[in-house]
Amino acid sequence: MNCPKCDSDNTRKFSIIYEEGTSRGKSEGFSDHSNYETEHFSQTPLAKRCSPPKEPEISSFLMLIGLAFSIFIAFKLGVFAGSFWWGVGAFVLSLVAFNILWHFTLGTKKNKQYDLDYETWDNSWICMKCGNDFLSSK
Ligand SMILES: [Zn+2]
Repeated sequence: MNCPKCDSDNTRKFSIIYEEGTSRGKSEGFSDHSNYETEHFSQTPLAKRCSPPKEPEISSFLMLIGLAFSIFIAFKLGVFAGSFWWGVGAFVLSLVAFNILWHFTLGTKKNKQYDLDYETWDNSWICMKCGNDFLSSK
């Protein structure tokens, strides 16, 4: 893969730079009084630039609506059936249903955008000579 700008063949894929420049780990140690465990995350500025897109998450506002809705259903059904456990079951079921609904309706648009972004990222290259980033032509 040659850089379209300077024609250098010193080019690398975004995903390689990202993996190489990102480190996650745990370190354990002992001090006089206690042993400790710290998690560390480090990333080079270049790896940050080459990070993959973030996965879409359910928005907290929608989650709140879903939760309120589930509580409402649970309460209604619980009272109707005269059983606490019916209420709990209804609560869990409607929460699950809400999540599924989100994924197939509002989430789809976000997920599509994510898939597109991810594909772009997966085809992105950077030139180690001039710093230009470009898409690989398939
Ligand atoms: Zn270049």
